[in-house]
Amino acid sequence: MSDFEKLGEFGLIARFQSRLKHRSRRVRLGIGDDAAVYSPRLGWHQVASTDALVETVHFRTDTTPPERLGEKAIAVNVSDIAAMGGVPLVALVSLGLPASTPLKFIDGMMKGFEKASADYGIELAGGDTVASPRHLFINVTLVGEVRKSRYFTRAGARPGDTLMVTGSLGDAALGLALLGKRRQPLQGGTKHKNFLCRRHQAPTARVREAALLARSRARVGAMIDISDGLVQDLSHLLESGGLGARLWEDALPHSTALRRICAANRLNPLSFSLSGGEDYELLFTLAPVDVKKITRQFQKANALATPIGEVTANGGQVSLLRSSGRLEPLPRALGYDHFKPASPKHSGGSKI
Ligand SMILES: [Mg+2]
Repeated sequence: MSDFEKLGEFGLIARFQSRLKHRSRRVRLGIGDDAAVYSPRLGWHQVASTDALVETVHFRTDTTPPERLGEKAIAVNVSDIAAMGGVPLVALVSLGLPASTPLKFIDGMMKGFEKASADYGIELAGGDTVASPRHLFINVTLVGEVRKSRYFTRAGARPGDTLMVTGSLGDAALGLALLGKRRQPLQGGTKHKNFLCRRHQAPTARVREAALLARSRARVGAMIDISDGLVQDLSHLLESGGLGARLWEDALPHSTALRRICAANRLNPLSFSLSGGEDYELLFTLAPVDVKKITRQFQKANALATPIGEVTANGGQVSLLRSSGRLEPLPRALGYDHFKPASPKHSGGSKI
């Protein structure tokens, strides 16, 4: 009998209750009852999202330490709330645990849940644990809030809008490639490699950036978080309006770590930044007149937002303006095959 089988479901819940210490003032009743009770905020709508991570599909226990996995399970959901311009509030977690799961691994995940709860100011207020025959899975449901007067959706982009993205692109995909090539490691400095692996294992949800946009008066058209790759997620912003887009190669934000590791291994950074998944950066459209103001406001807040292209009226056409001045069409939906990394790609589900 494994440690956690000995502990039993009630023992496990008690363990969660004593180790998850981060509380929200808005939660009246957390773990330990039939349901969690929390108070809504006047003038705000409730917003909810859910996302599952399944062992072998979304993560492997030999490349993702349990603490990072716990952090990531929360962060990917916070990212969806951020994409609406919202603030996260309460998380519910369902864990599917194979009998062989070491208690140490579960404790590690709890640490990750606790860290993410503190980082994002939420309370893990309940959940469920079930036996899973083979693989581990984590499903998180996150409830958050958006101002009634101001939230963002995937619709609302207009021709002529500037495309903006937070942070840097492609890091998580290159991090995954690094983790998958442990036997034939890629060249390059450890510091850069660690940064990239960390971006894959425990991404940062851009909730602070989302709040900045929600508070601003800038004309934000549409917003999405990038989970499946820039080109693919961009297509979701264009679909509803029958729009197209032009991306500017020179403007794509590549981190120093990505540039260095790509250069040392003769890899094309575009293969990661255009189609690499799991960056969890925010992609949004903005009226060109507001670009300077938002860029400045982000800088002041020690955050990053970069203009990377423009929305066009060419329905269904996404193209890349190369450094050479040539305009190259990019197939939508799948990302760009020529640029696709050879390493295994994130094979997440899609939002329903
Ligand atoms: Mg999303």
